[in-house]
Order: sequence, then structure tokens, then C-alpha cells
Amino acid sequence: MEKKFLTATDLMNYSYCPRIIYYVHVLKRPQFTTSKEYKGREKESDFQEKLGIKTIVDSIMVDKEKNEAYPIQAKYSFKPSKLYRAQLFQIIMESMLIEECLGYKSPFGFIKFLRSGELVKVDTEKRRQEVLEAFQSIEKIMATESFPKPTKYRKRCVDCCFKSICW
Ligand code: SF4
Repeated sequence: MEKKFLTATDLMNYSYCPRIIYYVHVLKRPQFTTSKEYKGREKESDFQEKLGIKTIVDSIMVDKEKNEAYPIQAKYSFKPSKLYRAQLFQIIMESMLIEECLGYKSPFGFIKFLRSGELVKVDTEKRRQEVLEAFQSIEKIMATESFPKPTKYRKRCVDCCFKSICW
């Protein structure tokens, strides 16, 4: 059977609401996203490897002396007071893929918020376990076909394309 790659979209979906994984991968429902649902979800494909995940990176900064490389994401927005979980997951995943695919160490990543001109440094090495646990949870939903608990943020349902079948 062809290997199923998890994607950055899966990670975004999971961080938005685990139930979306169930609808998309277990029930095979098409996902019609709203503009608000997840900005940046289009960033995927191209970059795949043995972790069984794929994504695309905006750009990569390489420090050959240290043998390190850092993903850089550009967001056309102002810097939020606190980074969203989906933003964190995305940059951490990119660091992981840089290590696997390109052989550099990637302890950090950067998110540039273009509208406020701010650059945020993310310690992607320290927070890697969070992404690995999220992927394990996604795979478990798919393997066991168990119906996950909904997001605790009910206002997210307003913009979700599955709201008509969910409640
Ligand atoms: S309607 Fe709400 S609970 Fe259901 S999948 Fe969408 S976000 Fe999750």
C-alpha cells in the first residue's frame, strides 16, 4: 500500500480541532476551508522524507561554519501577542525536516511578521516533542478510527466547514 504522508495541513487541522482529522481521513469528507480557518495552510508538498511528513519552507538560512540551518517563515500580518500553536508547529516541523533532508542541525527557526516588521526566534529543538506527539495523535485517530473530542474553543466551529455535521 502507498505510504500516507502526513502534511503541514494535517498538523494545522489537528491544532485547530482533532475532529477535522477524523472527518478528512476516516470519513473521507472533502474539506472546504474558509479564509479564516487557517491562513498558511497552503504551504505544503515538495519536502518529504522518512518521518512521513511533507511541507514546503518559505526560505532557509544556512550557517556553514556552525553546520546549522534555520527555516524562515514570512507572515503578512502583525505579530500576535502570543504565537499561535499552528505557527509554532509549522516552524518546528520545518526545522525537523531540514535536519532530516539537508543534514544540518536546526535548533531555531524564525517567523517574520511583515506588517509590523518584527522577527520572532523560535527554539524549535526544545519544542520538538510537541510536534511528534501531535503526529502520533493524528496517526492514532486514523488507525483506530476513534471520534476525537471537539476543540474546547467553540467559537472555532463558526468558521469550520464541518459544523453542519458535527453537532
Ligand atoms: S465543527 Fe467544531 S468541533 Fe466540529 S470539527 Fe469543526 S471545529 Fe471541530
